[in-house]
Amino acid sequence: MDFSREDLIRWDKEYFWHPFTQMKVYREEDNPIFERGEGVYLYDIYGRKYIDAISSLWCNVHGHNHPRLNNALIKQLCKVAHTTTLGSSNIPSIILAKRLVEITPPCLTKVFYSEDGAEANEIALKMAYHYFYNKGERERKYFITLSNAYHGDTIGAVSVGGIEIFHNAYKPLLFKTFKLPSPYRYCKEKYGELCDECKEDLLNRLRNILETHHGEVIGIILESGIQAAAGMLPYPKGFLKGVEKLSKEFGVFFIVDEVATGFGRTGTLFYVEQEGVCPDFMTLGKGITGGYLPLAVTLTTEEVFNAFLGDFGEAKHFYHGHTYTGNNLACAVAIENLNIFEEEKTLEELQPKISHLAKRLEEFKELPWVYDIRRLGFMAGIELRRRDGEPFPYGDRIGFKVAYKARKRGVFFRPLGDVMVLMMPLVIEIGEIDHVLDTLKWAIEDTLRAF
Ligand code: PMP
Repeated sequence: MDFSREDLIRWDKEYFWHPFTQMKVYREEDNPIFERGEGVYLYDIYGRKYIDAISSLWCNVHGHNHPRLNNALIKQLCKVAHTTTLGSSNIPSIILAKRLVEITPPCLTKVFYSEDGAEANEIALKMAYHYFYNKGERERKYFITLSNAYHGDTIGAVSVGGIEIFHNAYKPLLFKTFKLPSPYRYCKEKYGELCDECKEDLLNRLRNILETHHGEVIGIILESGIQAAAGMLPYPKGFLKGVEKLSKEFGVFFIVDEVATGFGRTGTLFYVEQEGVCPDFMTLGKGITGGYLPLAVTLTTEEVFNAFLGDFGEAKHFYHGHTYTGNNLACAVAIENLNIFEEEKTLEELQPKISHLAKRLEEFKELPWVYDIRRLGFMAGIELRRRDGEPFPYGDRIGFKVAYKARKRGVFFRPLGDVMVLMMPLVIEIGEIDHVLDTLKWAIEDTLRAF
């Protein structure tokens, strides 16, 4: 089929409904159509080059068009692209399951595959509920969640989410949860900072919910270490550990969502390592294939797995699966992703980059529109507000305007509202980090000078 660049632009606006996108606005603007990638760079159909400062929505790890990941994919492709795992198996999904169990906290011994983060969380919720169902504890129906949480866009994941602008419209369709406040917002408002006192306050609130309702509670679900989609809102240190202790004390599950934080983003392979936490469920996605193919997993314990064992006629098994569950290609790439982490010492190489990022972010404090800077490892957010500290009106799309400006100097951003997100591929070099930050600083100043 013959087509020109103009055809692509036209057809994109005519046929393609983009996710999380106001299509009325999208159709009025020029957005890049990417054609290829190389390392941390993306190239659009006009050959313009951009640093991928958001790792293609937080999933790219070792760079685009990576020879080793390409080869792993091609090698598997020449054998078979997909075979079902409903009642049969395939080599890459077996090997990957073993590798994942080896690199995650020791209490996690079983791997259930899916394709995206939302599904991995949906599966954790269903499994957790179903565990108690199989045990005959049918009155357990509720999860404890956090305000501002984000676990994906399917109805179950939205039910345990708490971002008003994304989730409010669906309220009548959602199941009920018990909610704790968003730790970052709560601590800032009440204590002015993320301190131990605030952590204890939050944990006491959790204890109160558990004391009143633990017989009806299935578990607690949290993002690991930071509420990413809410605008990079970290928890007080030790909060995760405190939640783990309470969940054990009250006999409810602790579900940790490492979809965004997993695979090195916080400086360790998984954030749970930093607090010595071993949850009952841990979900992974995004970086699991280095940003190549959709794959996600729900890891769980022997205890949970065993509750689904029984004679066939007992029908205790987990009635859940997707067409592409445990896809051969995705699993083969995920194995190579892990090999690269080990052989290229990705996490060791990352440490000086984290320090550099932290140091350079300090400079942003000088800008009058920078309201707050938040960071966990290599994940960061810069919140922009008016000089008087009031948020910009939502419809002004200030974050997007800054992002569009940055494209002119070859950096691709995708903000969360007016929070400029920095989620660079882990392989990015110091000089490239500098280019991203210099560009962002310039774009903020140039866009907001008049405000
Ligand atoms: N959990 C977290 C913590 C996330 O940040 C995201 C995506 N940003 C998801 C779940 C959903 O993952 P997916 O988009 O792959 O469904």
